[in-house]
Amino acid sequence: TRQFFVGGNFKLNPTTLQAGTALVSGLNSADLDPSTEVVIAPPTIYLLSVKDSISNNVKIAAQNCYFKESGAFTGEISPKQLVDAGIPYVILGHSERRTIFHEDSALVATKTRAAIDAGLKVILCIGETLEQREAGKTAEVCEAQLKAVVDVTKDVDWSKVVIAYEPVWAIGTGKVATSAQAQQAHADVRAYLSKAVSADVAAKVQILYGGSVTAANCKELARQPDVDGFLVGGASLKPEFADIINARK
Ligand code: 13P
Repeated sequence: TRQFFVGGNFKLNPTTLQAGTALVSGLNSADLDPSTEVVIAPPTIYLLSVKDSISNNVKIAAQNCYFKESGAFTGEISPKQLVDAGIPYVILGHSERRTIFHEDSALVATKTRAAIDAGLKVILCIGETLEQREAGKTAEVCEAQLKAVVDVTKDVDWSKVVIAYEPVWAIGTGKVATSAQAQQAHADVRAYLSKAVSADVAAKVQILYGGSVTAANCKELARQPDVDGFLVGGASLKPEFADIINARK
């Protein structure tokens, strides 16, 4: 059985260290299901202070990293630096990185490989646009995004990878996928990984759903057999994040 996993992707929020510390204090005093793995991804500038102020089992993720270890890459942060700083996770391939910052699947794959090789765990995001869904291409798009990664990671330890299925049309829109839509996409991802990597990896990999998850809709999604948790944006900045962490309690 796969451990339930909930990530909070703070994105470019909040905008003061004080507000970031307040978010952590809220989590520190919340009653969190100890059987859920919880990871929060604050902005880079707050990674170390957040890490130091967490008093429970919550782990930290970076929201992005580069694939080089060091060198003339102004503005970037390396997997090695994250590992050295005690940050165990990195989110890669988020749709905002793909769209706004023009990261293609090949770059996401290179980053994923470099992050795993450096000793990080990767939360790898995939997902289709509304246009792609309406054209019936959801599985195809997710497969293509995964294939780029699979092509360079077949021999890695897949226990270091968590997949987040985040349909672009559901991110920040209030339009959550139905539990049937999420279940279908997750099952398709698992079927693809079974074929492309191994049945064992497919059975063990955690697949999170992301996109307008709230305390109100998380329980039904969490009941789907292939939904192993969530990657939460907006609601991770609110007290209801604790309820999402406790979705299976
Ligand atoms: P929202 O929960 O705000 O829709 O964002 C989802 C997301 O992008 C998490 O990575």
